[in-house]
Amino acid sequence: MLYVRPDFYDDFHCLAAACRHSCCVGWEIDVDGDSLKYYRSIPGALGEELRRQIALEPSPHFRLGEDERCPFLRPDGLCRLIVQLGEDSLCDICALHPRFFNDYPGRTEVGLGLCCEEAARLLTEGEGPLRFLTESDGEGDETPTPLLKLREKIFVLLADDAQSLTTRMDKALGLMGQDLPAFDGEDTAAFFLTLERMDEAWTALLKKLEPAPKLEPRLSRTRYARLAAYLVYRHFAAAQTETEAARRLQFCFHAARLVCALEPYSPDALRLFSAEIEYSDENVEKICAWLAN
Ligand code: SF4
Repeated sequence: MLYVRPDFYDDFHCLAAACRHSCCVGWEIDVDGDSLKYYRSIPGALGEELRRQIALEPSPHFRLGEDERCPFLRPDGLCRLIVQLGEDSLCDICALHPRFFNDYPGRTEVGLGLCCEEAARLLTEGEGPLRFLTESDGEGDETPTPLLKLREKIFVLLADDAQSLTTRMDKALGLMGQDLPAFDGEDTAAFFLTLERMDEAWTALLKKLEPAPKLEPRLSRTRYARLAAYLVYRHFAAAQTETEAARRLQFCFHAARLVCALEPYSPDALRLFSAEIEYSDENVEKICAWLAN
């Protein structure tokens, strides 16, 4: 089995109390079965509070409090469960977040979701083209799927900083018989505003998009090449068909240009994009379908 991670993965540490956009606010936090059993066994006041703060329907989850905060998030940003019971007390979602996993035959890829401001910072402030670190457990390695092989070629193209990122993305799409369409800010804003949105800051940001933003040469900075490659790493090879993969590639490149167009208005654009779009399969699918038309 091969285990793959991006070059910034090992540098990640949760910012905890220093995080401006804690993942313990605004998200429904599901409690897995083993954790629920454990929480039910905790004695004393904390145990009683745990049982009171977990709603069981439609599936076990923490009841969010004022401002949609996790009931166990202290005003200073620390988690009471970690402080009082230790890190091992966390339910699966809290223990794993912001990590994501993609499994392929003989291969597991891990990454850090960009809805986490620290993950977004580490990715975009990294030097040089995005690289991936691979380790094998020696128990029989993968036979790469056709899409994984194609993705390697896409990574090579995206790393070629002798050309603009627009050209690199166009060449990558060319591998799938596609062109990179011009980025239309007006159409993008109009469509994205039809999607489900959680944060008013995202709505306000989309409304600032210019009809035809000038993206190059800013787009060719290392941060956007790394972002484009990372989106491809997360979304491309899990497609079920080549047609779906081509749509996902369009999605990744549209997303990188969208973030580039929005960052002059907000340094938080990437985190917002990820939280609002990447974490909603429905939104990703709708965008892929829209881009295909
Ligand atoms: S968003 Fe990231 S840095 Fe912030 S609390 Fe969550 S895991 Fe930690």
